[in-house]
Amino acid sequence: MTEEKFDAIIVGAGMSGNAAAYTMASHGLKVLQLERGEYPGSKNVQGAILYANMLETIIPDFRDDAPLERHLVEQRFWVMDDTSHTGMHYRSDDFNEPTPNRYTIIRAQFDKWFSRKVRAAGATVLCETTATELALDATGKVIGVRTDREGGIIHADVVVLAEGVNGLLGTRAGFRKVPKPEAVALAVKEMHFLPEEVIAERFGLTGDQGCVIEAAGTISRGMAGLGFLYTNKESISLGIGCLVSDFAATMERPYTLLEDFKDHPSIRPLLAGSEVKEYAAHLIPEGGFKAIPQLFGNGWVVVGDAAQLNNAVHREGSNLAMTSGRIAGEAICAIKSRKRAMTRENLSLYKTMLDESFVVKDLKKYKDIPALLHTNSRNFFMTYPQLLSQAAQNFVRVDGTPKIEKERATTAAFIKARSRWGLVSDAVRLALAWR
Ligand SMILES: Cc1cc2nc3c(=O)[nH]c(=O)nc-3n(C[C@H](O)[C@H](O)[C@H](O)COP(=O)(O)OP(=O)(O)OC[C@H]3O[C@@H](n4cnc5c(N)ncnc54)[C@H](O)[C@@H]3O)c2cc1C
Repeated sequence: MTEEKFDAIIVGAGMSGNAAAYTMASHGLKVLQLERGEYPGSKNVQGAILYANMLETIIPDFRDDAPLERHLVEQRFWVMDDTSHTGMHYRSDDFNEPTPNRYTIIRAQFDKWFSRKVRAAGATVLCETTATELALDATGKVIGVRTDREGGIIHADVVVLAEGVNGLLGTRAGFRKVPKPEAVALAVKEMHFLPEEVIAERFGLTGDQGCVIEAAGTISRGMAGLGFLYTNKESISLGIGCLVSDFAATMERPYTLLEDFKDHPSIRPLLAGSEVKEYAAHLIPEGGFKAIPQLFGNGWVVVGDAAQLNNAVHREGSNLAMTSGRIAGEAICAIKSRKRAMTRENLSLYKTMLDESFVVKDLKKYKDIPALLHTNSRNFFMTYPQLLSQAAQNFVRVDGTPKIEKERATTAAFIKARSRWGLVSDAVRLALAWR
């Protein structure tokens, strides 16, 4: 292994690691990036929606050659019970803008592309290399990493932990705790392949327009969880995820949930005739603001999923990862240019900058939502979706029942299920958490 000393070592070549490596390498820092996978993206799982704005801030001309699938023109939100969905769809021609706002991507291809940019910016990228341990000096300052390759410590002024949700290196060093089961979701996902024109016809799309569906309700069997369906060029990504603590408590199996989701009468026709070629499972950090660990220390910073930076309410993760990686890179470059050491005190600049960004502001806004959904999951993911469906059906079914009686029946169903006090209490708790 190399005897060189680097300005920075980045552990992980996912969204956050690539953003950090690109930022520092393009500012002239001597950067080493380690990735345990065979190639960047080989280990990574995402839906995947790419939020263009955050990538554009890092690579302004990314649209010229990035592997993008479809630009999104339609978003469907579905509340499901066992036989129906009640939906809100938002579709706008505004999204056919010259520089679209959101795209679907396939991470295995996208991460390879991002990594080529990182290398072109001057970073050294070593794949099939697992960082096994952080190397510390006698004062506890991080001075580099050990890997599973032969050789000793690889030295660097600062180590950026971009190792994803499991974050074993940071945990082993005592920098963060293992995330609690109620703060991480386990998601399973399949890729269903269909001809491009079939996808276009089924979802009413032309050219490279895309449509996504986010779904909640009885599909998660009362557990806190969500399903998704995203259109790619020639495939559909379909998945579902629930809190690990809920899986443990209910002994439900993720794969059974996915099978049932696929078989739902609202989903089945959208997948008809498709061929499944890929299956993946991955954790998602969902503890929100209260789960964010210490973000910096003597000789280290942590970014992306490893820092639990994921907005479960808005289903955003990769953009928080890229932004935290970029900001960490910019903070390190600023410290370097002032010729200061990578001490805990100086690296606090990263947190100061991150606090000012949408990343922390958004997570702070929804800080009480994860606990509310966790403790009230049966009401929000089972009872209310069933009631909403009953109410919608009662509203549209014409059967000679006077409307006044229909309205009374709907009100009575809500009160019977949750009581007046239960309804008021849920509404107040939700409003307080959302404020
Ligand atoms: C099913 C699913 C759907 C999702 N959908 C979306 C979506 O549509 N939009 C969105 O914005 N976000 C989505 N997310 C979240 C998003 O995928 C993550 O927020 C994002 O990938 C985090 O990037 P990261 O770089 O922090 O971590 P990762 O992408 O997980 O990358 C970590 C990297 O570190 C490497 N690594 C780990 N340990 C070591 C080690 N010791 N040595 C060397 N390398 C190591 C891993 O191999 C990996 O390449 C989804 C997540 C899942 C699971």
